[in-house]
Amino acid sequence: MTFSVHGLAVSRGIAIGRAVLVASSRADVAHYFVDADKTDLEIARVREARNAVVEEISRLQHDLPKDAPHEISALLDVHLMLLQDEQLIGGVKKWITDRRYNAEWALTTQYETIARQFDDMEDEYLRERKADLEQVVERILRRMKGMASPMQPVAQAGASRKQSKQGLLLADTIDVPLVLIAHDISPADMLQFKQSLFAGFATDVGGKTSHTAIVARSMDIPAVVGARSASQLIEQDDWVIIDGDAGILIVDPSPIILAEYGFKQRQGELERERLSRLKNTAAITLDNQRIELLANIELPGDTLGAVSAGAVGVGLFRSEFLFMGRAGNLPNEEEQYSAYRQAIEGMKGMPVTIRTVDIGSDKPLDRASDRMEKAQDTHLNPALGLRAIRWSLADPPMFLTQLRAILRAAAHGQVNLLVPMLAHASEIKQTLLLIDRARVQLDNQGVPYGPVQLGAMIEIPAAALSLKLFLKYFDFLSIGTNDLIQYTLAIDRADESVAHLYDPCHPAVLRLIADTIAECNAQGKGVSVCGEMAGDVSMTKLLLGMGLRSFSMHPSQILAVKQQILRADTAKLKPWAELVLGSDDPAAML
Ligand code: PEP
Ligand code: MG
Repeated sequence: MTFSVHGLAVSRGIAIGRAVLVASSRADVAHYFVDADKTDLEIARVREARNAVVEEISRLQHDLPKDAPHEISALLDVHLMLLQDEQLIGGVKKWITDRRYNAEWALTTQYETIARQFDDMEDEYLRERKADLEQVVERILRRMKGMASPMQPVAQAGASRKQSKQGLLLADTIDVPLVLIAHDISPADMLQFKQSLFAGFATDVGGKTSHTAIVARSMDIPAVVGARSASQLIEQDDWVIIDGDAGILIVDPSPIILAEYGFKQRQGELERERLSRLKNTAAITLDNQRIELLANIELPGDTLGAVSAGAVGVGLFRSEFLFMGRAGNLPNEEEQYSAYRQAIEGMKGMPVTIRTVDIGSDKPLDRASDRMEKAQDTHLNPALGLRAIRWSLADPPMFLTQLRAILRAAAHGQVNLLVPMLAHASEIKQTLLLIDRARVQLDNQGVPYGPVQLGAMIEIPAAALSLKLFLKYFDFLSIGTNDLIQYTLAIDRADESVAHLYDPCHPAVLRLIADTIAECNAQGKGVSVCGEMAGDVSMTKLLLGMGLRSFSMHPSQILAVKQQILRADTAKLKPWAELVLGSDDPAAML
């Protein structure tokens, strides 16, 4: 029966596919398709791991001391029974044979399927067996980690995908498009899915500018977050339409609905084709104002997409993505230097703005790291805690390592060094002191480095109200509207339950942005917006009217924003923006 689930639209377009349910804790499991002639090997890999676990548990049981409580032996019996249950291995075999999922993916998919059956059971004792099943699956996965897959993934990292006429992403060998449904995915795990084989995705939690949503947008696939109970209502393999424009999921659609969305999907494709013609057009307004359109990137490889979308530089390299999902082992200086250098070279001489690490809040380093314990999750308000520059200043050796790597990379091209979340004069001074110290260290080692322009992010209202202080020390400012909105309105940007109050058009927010732009323009200092607002076409004209001439956004949004720019006349927009700024209800005027 058809039903719909409402959430928040985060990434445009329509995806139609079968649901793949992924538990939050399983998001880091590899997902790829295997060749048809290799499925037997893949099945053997699960069997081998399963048999090894059976042996391990049997041995445990055999070695139990005679006086061990009876419950332990009974529990091990249950685990053995679950391991040998044909439903588990039979199901895994089916996912591998029919869908060509890799072994880990097949196992976690079958786990989700059986776990759901346990959830539906009346009997409490049986319902509780789900936890045992989870432990058993965890053991098999751990075993498999030690056994390298004998084959190369067939479809992963977008290597062998193609775009069908309907706009569905299909693997060469698999003709069923897939959409990912999860309760939550951390930004680090999202990286695993970046350029993966999914045609769209939806999560139960998250706000429009949560970092998971931001990475989703950078993947340029239809996505919905904050869809509350989607992962409970949708079942493995259900057909789902993800409407990333309206923020709606339609489950088990009727043929009429499917036809309607198929049509919408084709319209979207046509629109994209039309926009792609603007790629080589300069971003100049009707009254001859040249506008700088820059790209936001997460990894050095993203520069490829930035260049092909026509970006004239990188306005925000979120360097923290180099730090995440590494079990707390931070990248060393060489590793960082080569990543930054790769990004600089990828931009072919265009400027690259590297933001120092912004770990914390909804961007934890890793689930299992000690450093994360120190910084996040253990506190009630991680967004107000040891985040971004605060985290960096709390660990000078770590920060110096990053600063040296950035300065060294600057020898290879035009680099701007951007510092997130500053609010206090003391933080500014400490940061500048450490940048100087990094230079001295490099001098002492005789290591070459290059000049950088220094920039600060304006993300905290206190910073937006201390512009003179900031401009005394920095060459340019970059407005992080995502956080500026969060902190001005006291709305957690990652919390879907207050998403309706997260209002980019609140007069207070607009006032802080307008004043920042005006002050920078008055002092002849560079200013850019690099939050999601920069890529929101409904805000382009207002920002132009406020005097903004530099926008940084995900490459996928550049052409649509350029289209707005080509139709704009900034001389006319200026007085109009004044009216909007003075209004009680600015949104109504856009
Ligand atoms: C912002 O806050 O607007 C910003 C660009 O930084 P991030 O989204 O990474 O917090
Ligand atoms: Mg921010």
